Amino acid sequence: MGSDEHVVVVGAGHAGVQLVDSLRAGGYEGPLTLLSREACLPYQRPPLSKDFIAAGSAAEPLLLRGASFFDDAGVDARWGVSAECLLPSSREVLTSTGERLAYTSLVLATGAESRPLRVPGEDLAGVFRLRTLDDARAASAALEGARRAVVVGAGFTGLEFAAGARARGVDVTLVSPTARPLRRAVSRTVSMFLTERHALDRVRFELGDGVAAFFGTGSDDGGRRRVSAVATTSGREIPADLVVVGVGVRPASGLAAAAGLELADDGGIAVDGNLRASDPAISAIGDCASFPSVHAGRRVRLESVQNATDQARHAAAVILGKDPGPYRELPWFWSHQGATKVQIAGLRRGDASTAVRGDVAAGRFSVFTYDDGELVCVESVNSPADHLAARRLLGAGRSLAPADAGDPAFDLKAYSRAAPAAV
Ligand SMILES: Cc1cc2nc3c(=O)[nH]c(=O)nc-3n(C[C@H](O)[C@H](O)[C@H](O)COP(=O)(O)OP(=O)(O)OC[C@H]3O[C@@H](n4cnc5c(N)ncnc54)[C@H](O)[C@@H]3O)c2cc1C
Repeated sequence: MGSDEHVVVVGAGHAGVQLVDSLRAGGYEGPLTLLSREACLPYQRPPLSKDFIAAGSAAEPLLLRGASFFDDAGVDARWGVSAECLLPSSREVLTSTGERLAYTSLVLATGAESRPLRVPGEDLAGVFRLRTLDDARAASAALEGARRAVVVGAGFTGLEFAAGARARGVDVTLVSPTARPLRRAVSRTVSMFLTERHALDRVRFELGDGVAAFFGTGSDDGGRRRVSAVATTSGREIPADLVVVGVGVRPASGLAAAAGLELADDGGIAVDGNLRASDPAISAIGDCASFPSVHAGRRVRLESVQNATDQARHAAAVILGKDPGPYRELPWFWSHQGATKVQIAGLRRGDASTAVRGDVAAGRFSVFTYDDGELVCVESVNSPADHLAARRLLGAGRSLAPADAGDPAFDLKAYSRAAPAAV
């Protein structure tokens, strides 16, 4: 890289922070500016719906890097400063503080935003989202002294929050228009297992029913009406002291779209195999990026820490001129729901055929999913050794016969070790 380089990174989540770290570790010594809309030091998002909720007022955010990291690494980190406008033709970024930052490489790591539900009463006090530390602090504080919480949406965030709220002794009702939780994200076996576990923990499920409106009463300190009930599309009214809406996210791609960068059908910033946007001086990584995935066989946008950090490493290598080839890291993900630990390696493709290893009733098992006879995804429940083996196999592009996968006597660890390690 030349001496006149200036790398500007927009967004200091898992992707943006890993990017600046990888650039410095890779030998980049030029100016490096990190813009962060959030005014606090960058923190890990996954605990926000898990330990952070369950721990109540004792909860502390987990920082992505120590407070001195950015100074030590010579990163010009601007907390509480947004990129407001991109000018690709002059290679400049306009910031919320009125600065014009010229760049030679720009990395968009703007993440995602909670999807609105668009029903009346959504803006009542006591209706929360779970995307930022402020969101999680507010929802967790509202659980203090609450008796009844309603969770809208049966995705990972909603289920994790439900487990945390139950740990705090709050009654939880989960409302979702889908017939089963995590319908698209996991196999039927894992979905049914998790539903049963939450039901045993006395989470009430109202499935196949949507939210029509939130009803309010009284007012909070700021004079806003407070949520008191959730009206469902089937006409039920569920009392609520607080509500958490977890109906998914949309990519934060507005800045890119306004600058004329190409968006994909999924709304993410369209990037190529090297994570370059339609303007080659600009990369997009993490939740905001839509990329061609060798594992899915199509363009996808993923929401996981693995995706954010691996893409950041890749984009850093590209900016450093290291020619890493097309991005091809294996997607993997985890979710902790109370005592149940779910780990997923690979990507599911529809309702393909499956083989089950382990004991579902005992809560220790893995579901191996096949597409056209090829192993594409392994979901492990309280089975970390299976997950590691699955990552080795899938990362190396090796398959495994369904009969072997389901055979408890088959040595999965030894078989996976014969594959070149990819984890
Ligand atoms: C509650 C919750 C639980 C999760 N649990 C898991 C889990 O268990 N496992 C897992 O793998 N993943 C989990 N995820 C997903 C994971 O956290 C995300 O995939 C990851 O945070 C994506 O990182 P990112 O850097 O792409 O985006 P983000 O972490 O969203 O960071 C983007 C940052 O960019 C900032 N920004 C946006 N626009 C601008 C702008 N114009 N100027 C300046 N800054 C801007 C945003 O404010 C934000 O701080 C969870 C997410 C949430 C919200």
